[in-house]
Amino acid sequence: MDIYIAPLKFSNALLLGDIISELSNRFVSKISVIEMQLNAGKYLSKERGQYYSTGLIADAMNITGNYSGKIIILTEIDLYVPVLTFIFGEAQLNGKHSIVSACRLHEEFYSGKSDDKILFERLMKEILHELGHTYGLRHCVNWDCVMHTSPGIEEVDIKGSDYCKRCASIVDGYKSPYF
Ligand SMILES: [Zn+2]
Ligand SMILES: [Zn+2]
Repeated sequence: MDIYIAPLKFSNALLLGDIISELSNRFVSKISVIEMQLNAGKYLSKERGQYYSTGLIADAMNITGNYSGKIIILTEIDLYVPVLTFIFGEAQLNGKHSIVSACRLHEEFYSGKSDDKILFERLMKEILHELGHTYGLRHCVNWDCVMHTSPGIEEVDIKGSDYCKRCASIVDGYKSPYF
């Protein structure tokens, strides 16, 4: 099953390249980048200064519904759903689409200091996490597993950077380190 990355207000080409090669190492699936004409401004909450994640996913489904495979929207904009202050990402359980925002994964967001290595690690964790949901995985109780819930940056940093054995066995096309 192919995996498509759909950048949305995401201009860091170097980081995008690193993500593609990391995903290619981890999946037998073909990884490609697609261009998606999505009007994010429609989902900007002026009050919150954030974008409504579920709306963005719904529009992406309309635009890219004909693709067979998984589609990850990769963005720098700050995402929210009404009940939460912010979210790092969202996915359709057992579906095709997911979205991941790098906005609050930047170390400078917290300490004021930029760190590309930390950003990459956090971003890979959240991409694998949201992808995992699209393969039908729910949250995992194992802290070593990337499917552990991570509502805040502390949990993102604490949890593991790979799927646990059980979760890995469910992700189609994943080059599991366990078998
Ligand atoms: Zn989750
Ligand atoms: Zn797990």
